[in-house]
Amino acid sequence: MSLPAQTLAVRLPRALLDPGGHPNAALLPAGDAEGLLSVTLTLADGRIAAIEPRQPSSSAEATCPEALPLALPPLLEPHAHLDKAFSWTDFPNRDGSMAGALEANTREAAVRSTALVLERGERALDQAWRYGLRALRSHIDSGGPQEQPSWEALLELQQRWDGRLALQLTALVPLAHWATAEGEALARRVAAAGGLLGGVLGPPFSEGYSHGDQLQHLLQLADRHGCGLDLHIDESDRQPGRGLRLLLRELKRSPVAVPITCSHCSSLALLPEEQQRRLAAGLAERNVAVVVLPTTNLWMLGRRHGLTGPLRPIAPLKLLQQEGVCAAIGGDNVQDPWYPGGDFDPVELLRLSLPALQLPPWLRQGLMPFTTAASRLLGLDWDGVLRPGGPADLLVLGASSWSELLARPTQRRVLRAGRWLEPPHSQRPDPRLASLGETPPNAG
Ligand SMILES: [Zn+2]
Repeated sequence: MSLPAQTLAVRLPRALLDPGGHPNAALLPAGDAEGLLSVTLTLADGRIAAIEPRQPSSSAEATCPEALPLALPPLLEPHAHLDKAFSWTDFPNRDGSMAGALEANTREAAVRSTALVLERGERALDQAWRYGLRALRSHIDSGGPQEQPSWEALLELQQRWDGRLALQLTALVPLAHWATAEGEALARRVAAAGGLLGGVLGPPFSEGYSHGDQLQHLLQLADRHGCGLDLHIDESDRQPGRGLRLLLRELKRSPVAVPITCSHCSSLALLPEEQQRRLAAGLAERNVAVVVLPTTNLWMLGRRHGLTGPLRPIAPLKLLQQEGVCAAIGGDNVQDPWYPGGDFDPVELLRLSLPALQLPPWLRQGLMPFTTAASRLLGLDWDGVLRPGGPADLLVLGASSWSELLARPTQRRVLRAGRWLEPPHSQRPDPRLASLGETPPNAG
């Protein structure tokens, strides 16, 4: 059933607007001090029919344009772990260490079932969609008894969510696994499912250990099967940049044609700037993209004997951008042994990332990691720029400026193909609070 045309007045980042072939295209002015422009969108048949600069309809709006809601295109999650999401309660990691997380993760994976992963994944994707995500890449613990049930569940969810939320799947195993017969068989199955190959490359790097050979084997395997690669690399506060250096060395030895993503790259930030730039330029030259993951890095890295250490490295996003690397931001772990929080909410991730990475949302570079760069990294058809003829998909916020968005958590409405979604559970009235009744007469 087609919808009648409707109009919507919102404030949009000018950097994410393309007036396209509209007759008023030349009239679409620059953004204000926060890079925002008040526009009227005409929506018809699930698509944007026109974008026009807003003519104030009232004197109040003329003097106070910020009364309109801030809107964004739906956002993207380039790095998640749906298979273990929401497992924190049963498998907590109270000391927040990597070793503790790995130990709890291993115990959890041993009891994973198809039904459990289906339940976790469905809950995660439903929340993600209602929060305003349109695509998500998940890594899946593979190479053990959890492999079969996890892939079975997530492949079913990929089908179930097709057309609403694009789900990409990456096999996560120890690097050495890809050289085994089981690893070869897994690569064939992943390739048949259109997935990606992944692995972990990080400290301890010891002399004589064959990281380079293992990595070279994985690169060739991915290339042979035509699978993209997404590596957890240098997620550490020591031996800075060793994994990236190794990757570039192996790519120089034998280049591959498949797209490569490096997730984390945290310890890169600990190198002197000149070395960071050299490695970043090498990544750009080889078309290697980076996913920056501030939440889990802030939670796990730099802990020192029960104290908060002075260094909690996060990949140097702005430097990577300056050197021409396609860099996106992801949420990583959600309520699992690696991080107890998170909720697949891209707005909360944006609110954390702006201060954590000192990003300016009023500039194109500040928004790219959540929108256009993330879309390019995921190889999606829509770049995330709003234009006539594009999808009538919007994330409309209960805030009118970046300052207001940073000031407090916000409500939102999500529009997909011209229709409003029901809000996620977290945005509905909380029954735990409603049951408390009215304010007591003697309060305050
Ligand atoms: Zn991860």
